[in-house]
Amino acid sequence: MRVAVLSETDKVETRVAATPETVKKYIALGADAVVQSGAGQGAGISDADYEAAGAVIAPTATDAVKDADIVLKVRRPAKTELLGYKPGAILIGIMDPYGQDAALKALAAAKVSAFSMELMPRITRAQVMDVLSSQANLAGYRAVIDATGEYGRAMPMMMTAAGTVPAARVFIMGAGVAGLQAIATARRLGAVVTATDVRPAAKEQVESLGAKFVAVEDEEFKQAETAGGYAKEMSAEYQAKQAALVAAHIAKQDIVITTALIPGRPAPKLVSRAMVESMKPGSVVIDLAVERGGNCEIAVPGQVVDHHGVKIVGHLNVPGRLAASASALYARNLYAFVETLIDRETKSVAVKWDDELVRATCLTRDGAIVHTAFQPTA
Ligand code: NAD
Repeated sequence: MRVAVLSETDKVETRVAATPETVKKYIALGADAVVQSGAGQGAGISDADYEAAGAVIAPTATDAVKDADIVLKVRRPAKTELLGYKPGAILIGIMDPYGQDAALKALAAAKVSAFSMELMPRITRAQVMDVLSSQANLAGYRAVIDATGEYGRAMPMMMTAAGTVPAARVFIMGAGVAGLQAIATARRLGAVVTATDVRPAAKEQVESLGAKFVAVEDEEFKQAETAGGYAKEMSAEYQAKQAALVAAHIAKQDIVITTALIPGRPAPKLVSRAMVESMKPGSVVIDLAVERGGNCEIAVPGQVVDHHGVKIVGHLNVPGRLAASASALYARNLYAFVETLIDRETKSVAVKWDDELVRATCLTRDGAIVHTAFQPTA
């Protein structure tokens, strides 16, 4: 049984899908580990580190995937990279499958069994495999650190002989995993923190972290959570009411961090141009949803925009801005899943195709797209 770890080809991707720690674990499972040269560079892991853990270094991706039973990635390989895979090889990564018909067809055509880690059900057994949580947690932390870097003032209230500096007012929009970590981080730095979300369950979580909850709490709000615990797309009417409340609140904020997502849908637009223009010069907006279309109307992916003195930050791949930590957690998420795909006795791949984790995450198998949610449109 061979496990291969590939370098990421996307320029913004700094993370890697295995660390020396997990390489050792794969070897202990009875696998050979092959790592593409340079795979760990962005995360501060050298080829020598992987070799010391027992891996063999392959000069190219094609060398690495040759004879591999399991291929580990952070991002979905492009069509042009799907060369030299063994038919039936397992390919695991963050596949970003929504609206990607052509890419899914390419995975099927390559005859790989592709698994999308972000589709992992949020059940107790799979918590250790939850890449959305592990990465969002770091992104929420980093968003606050990035905000403090852009903000020309102090976060905590400081009483000095020369006078008092007020605490920064920080507003977090979307109180899921990233938002809750952003709340906790901003509170630790001494900011005055408020937060909003459309899920009623978020209110208590926000308050338990010592932040104030700000939302229109009408009948629609009380129903606004799917059985899976995700946000629903809200009606235009609700969005208008919420926008009015938020508009008045944002005008008084120094830092706004937006994290609102709806799985498989574009990010909701929560911060309009007018709202940005209502903020004081020197204020900062961090848009963590910028890669999903953005929560802020004027955020630009990959840029820090200065709009009338307000900085709107649209960093790409925010977890990758903490590449070592993000890789360490992601690699453990992947290992925990791979462990369930292996027979320890025979030391070989033995996928239980009817396992709920497999059914939820498997996109392609035997040359076909098998996931019911991603059947190509006619
Ligand atoms: P997410 O990344 O999908 O979205 C971020 C947040 O944005 C969510 O809280 C969502 O409700 C909110 N949002 C969406 N539209 C909004 C709008 N218009 N205005 C304001 N906020 C908006 O969410 P997530 O971090 O993946 O968490 C989703 C849910 O899953 C949460 O309930 C979380 O606690 C839960 N969860 C469960 C587990 C588990 O049980 N294993 C693990 C992680 C998360």
